[in-house]
Amino acid sequence: MASVLLTATISTITFGDQCSISRCAFPSLSTLHLRATQKGIHVEMNKRVVVVKAMTTKSDFDDTDVDISLSHRVNAVKPSKTVAISDHATALLQSGVPVIRLAAGDPDFDTPAVIAEAGMNAIREGYTRYTPNAGTLELRQAICHKLKEENEITYTPDEIVVSNGAKQSVVQAVLAVCSPGDEVIIPAPFYTSYPEMARLADATPVILPSHISNNFLLDPKLLEANLTERSRLLILCSPCNPAGSVYSKKLLEEIAQIVAKHPRLLVLSDEIYEHIIYAPATHTSFASLPGMWDRTLTVNGFSKTFAMTGWRLGYIAGTKHFVAACGKIQSQFTSGASSIFQKAGVAALGLGYAGGEAVSTMVKAFRERRDFLVESFREMDGVKISEPQGAFYLFIDFSSYYGREVEGFGIIENSDSLCRYLLDKGLVALVPGECIWR
Ligand code: PMP
Repeated sequence: MASVLLTATISTITFGDQCSISRCAFPSLSTLHLRATQKGIHVEMNKRVVVVKAMTTKSDFDDTDVDISLSHRVNAVKPSKTVAISDHATALLQSGVPVIRLAAGDPDFDTPAVIAEAGMNAIREGYTRYTPNAGTLELRQAICHKLKEENEITYTPDEIVVSNGAKQSVVQAVLAVCSPGDEVIIPAPFYTSYPEMARLADATPVILPSHISNNFLLDPKLLEANLTERSRLLILCSPCNPAGSVYSKKLLEEIAQIVAKHPRLLVLSDEIYEHIIYAPATHTSFASLPGMWDRTLTVNGFSKTFAMTGWRLGYIAGTKHFVAACGKIQSQFTSGASSIFQKAGVAALGLGYAGGEAVSTMVKAFRERRDFLVESFREMDGVKISEPQGAFYLFIDFSSYYGREVEGFGIIENSDSLCRYLLDKGLVALVPGECIWR
C-alpha cells in the first residue's frame, strides 16, 4: 500500500502487475493511467507522463525482502472491467460527482417487500447459522419445483448446489470440469467474466464472433467448425448479457445436434435473465432439449429477476456427478450460502410463476426503457443497434465515431476512449465493448 498525492487524493493503491485504485477524488481519473513498478509509480495523463516519481513508502518498493511475485494464475487473468468501472463510478458519486452508473447490471428497483421481509424474519428468528454446503433442503426443493414448472427440467435436491451468486456457480463449474489445455467455447459478445474464468482453470477461451445483422446470435456452422477434441465446455447465455439476444428453441435444437456429436463437450447454460424477456421472445432451457439433460449445467440466480444483486444468491443444477464436483470446490471456498439470503430465496420463488406481478412490473419498466432507448439511438447518425429481446443491456456500435477529435478530450480511438470521454464529459459510466467482444 502507498499514498500518492497528485492534484487530488488517491487514498489507496494496491500493487501488483497492474495497480488498482480505490476511493479517488479525482474527477477525471479515467484519463489517468498508473503503472506501478519496483522503482515507483508512473502516472500518465492524456498520454503525457506528468508524474514519474511519486511518494511511496520505502518498504513498498526498495530493498524489500518480500517476494512480491504473484501466481501464474492471477497473472493470467484480467480484472473485471465492469466491476472496476462500477466501483470507480460509485467512488466518484460518493465524492460528490453526479455520475450516472450504467456499467453493472444492477436493477434500480428495490427487492420486493415480501422477499426482504423473509430475510429480516430470518434474522429476527435467529436463523443465522451455517447451512449445508449445497444449500438448505427447503431452498433446493423450491428450486427443483421452479425448474420443473418453469423450465420443464426435472432435478432432485441433490442435483442442486446453491452458491453466493450465479457468478460463483459459473466459476465453480468451469473449475470442476476443465483441465489445462481444454477449450471453453464462448460466443461473443459475452459476459465479461467467462474467458477469465476459463483462464483461472488453466483452460483456453475460444471466442466465437457474431454479427449485429444476426442479432449477435451464435452461428451453429461457426460452432461446428471450431469444435475439436479439446473442446470441453460451451457457455451459452440466453437472454444474453450484453447483446440481449434470445436463442429460439429452434436455434438451440440446432446447437444441441452439434453438441451431441462431441462426447467430451458439456454445456453451461447461464439462464440468469430468463424472466427479463420481451414477448414474443420466449425462453428455452437448454437442458430441456432431447439428449441434453445429462451434459448441461444450468446456472441461475436471484440477482436480476428479483432485484437482489446485493443479496448474493445463485445456483447450479445438473447431474449429481458434476454438481457434486462443484459442491466439493464450494466446500473449500465458501461453504453454504448465507442462511438469511436462502430464506429470502425461498420467499422469492414463492412469488409464483416467473416471479408473479412483482417481477412483471419490473420487466414492463425495462421494456419501456428499451423501446425508448432503441428508438432514440436509431435516430442518431452513424449508430448501429440491434433491438434486445431480453436482459437489460444495449450493445451499441459507435465505431463510425472512432478517429474523431473532440475538443478538450482528444481523439476517440476506440470503445475504451469513448467510454472515458463519456465518463469525463457526460458523467455516464459505461462498459467498453472491446473487453466483451474478443
Ligand atoms: N451471469 C451473467 C450473464 C450476468 O450478467 C451476471 C451478473 N451481471 C452473473 C452471471 C452473475 O450474477 P450474480 O449476481 O448472481 O453473481
